[in-house]
Amino acid sequence: MRTHAVAIVGSGPSGFYAAGALLDSEDPPVRVDMYDRLATPWGLVRAGVAPDHPKIKSVSNQYEKIAARPGFRFFGHVHVGEDVSVDELLDRYDAVIYAVGSQTERRLGIEGEDRPGSLASVDFVGWYNGHPDYVDLSPDLSAERAVVIGAGNVALDVARMLLLGEDDLRATDTADHAIESFVASTVTEVVVCGRRGPVEAAFTTTELRELDDIDGLTTVVDPAQVPPVEGDADLVKGTRRNVEILRGWAERGPDPDAARRMEFRFLRSPLRVLGDGDEGPVTGVELAVNRLEADDDGRVRPVDTGERETVECGLVLRAVGYRGMALPGVPFDDASGTIPNHEGRIDDREREYVVGWIKRGPTGIIGTNRKDANETVRGVLADLAGGSREDATVASAEEVEEWLSGRCPDLVDLDGWDAIDAHERAAGQDGGRPRVKVVDRSSFMDLVRPQ
Ligand code: NAP
Repeated sequence: MRTHAVAIVGSGPSGFYAAGALLDSEDPPVRVDMYDRLATPWGLVRAGVAPDHPKIKSVSNQYEKIAARPGFRFFGHVHVGEDVSVDELLDRYDAVIYAVGSQTERRLGIEGEDRPGSLASVDFVGWYNGHPDYVDLSPDLSAERAVVIGAGNVALDVARMLLLGEDDLRATDTADHAIESFVASTVTEVVVCGRRGPVEAAFTTTELRELDDIDGLTTVVDPAQVPPVEGDADLVKGTRRNVEILRGWAERGPDPDAARRMEFRFLRSPLRVLGDGDEGPVTGVELAVNRLEADDDGRVRPVDTGERETVECGLVLRAVGYRGMALPGVPFDDASGTIPNHEGRIDDREREYVVGWIKRGPTGIIGTNRKDANETVRGVLADLAGGSREDATVASAEEVEEWLSGRCPDLVDLDGWDAIDAHERAAGQDGGRPRVKVVDRSSFMDLVRPQ
């Protein structure tokens, strides 16, 4: 059987796991071209995972091994949907897999959401991680208190990054512009608001527990908000551990000598982001106090009690989930923010597939994407093995390269990325950092095409 050619659009975890599974195939043999609109691969592992989580980021070692395998190529600075269309990819490959993730934020839909100082965590995370789209965000960190809306792991990431001590911060690959802002920041208190209770919060236990290890930080929980110990036996393990940690913090009380505080406030929904007029900067958040009510199907939902509370602050970070974006020429379900599919095969389409968050929505940890990608690749390989593409002509590897070089003047291939990677790692060595990130297109191209 001839070697089949598959394009993967997006180079985050789900794209790499799909690439690895495809390259494992011997019958049919497959070669993979991976596209990214950025110069750099790894998606959220580079631009999403918090810089003080180097162990999580080290999953990129697996992706490097996949990238080094015969039959794999990387094409950075190719924006599918702008520089090239999906139809042009379908003309050149046997199959196309979209691994584009969830690139924007879920909105709160409340008054004042877009005031200066009210930021989507998607943007803030991109900014501190050196994503080229967000380097100019320049958040104002001159307030004493920030409010984070949401009770998930991203809420914890942004709250933690705001409160990390300088030594901890300088040991990371946080973008240099963000390190300088964080060091100059006057934020010493972050209030994390969940609309439901500790039992319903979406934190994972490791992420909660590690807060105890951060120098100079104290965690604050109102004892009245933690459910009684008698209910613990009914909770699943992860939730029970979360509740135990929060209860422990509530019983211990805040350390009055700590330089920085992270307060958890549950049963609070944001109603308005406050400030002067329509466009004045953030001065606070008005919160509704909720109680919980179980639906007939057992889902616990927040119900407004009518009571109100205002938290003064100069920064609001909205961390209520990510959302997928439509890709031109590809079906999209606006309600779920995903591409409609069945086990990775896009509905009513041939030769087009999805993996990762754009397939199932923005849930799960990095490893979740391996199983997800395997499921899709099983479908791809079964379809290819069906023989329908046996006589089809696809572009050769050389033809693809020629086409892209003509179309994308700043094309970055694997050698180009290797040059960027080597430069960043070398730059980090003296400061004991994993890397110093390059964050703008022209600097990337100086490394890719040295004079
Ligand atoms: P998430 O886990 O879905 O959490 C979103 C939070 O926002 C929930 O607490 C949700 O509350 C709340 N929320 C949603 N709409 C709201 C509204 N209108 N008003 C107030 N609150 C609202 O999303 P995420 O934190 O963005 O994380 C995305 C995925 O990445 C998750 O699977 C997460 O575990 C993963 N992740 C993992 C790590 C890690 O492992 N270290 C780090 C970052 C992210 P309800 O539950 O009430 O809807």
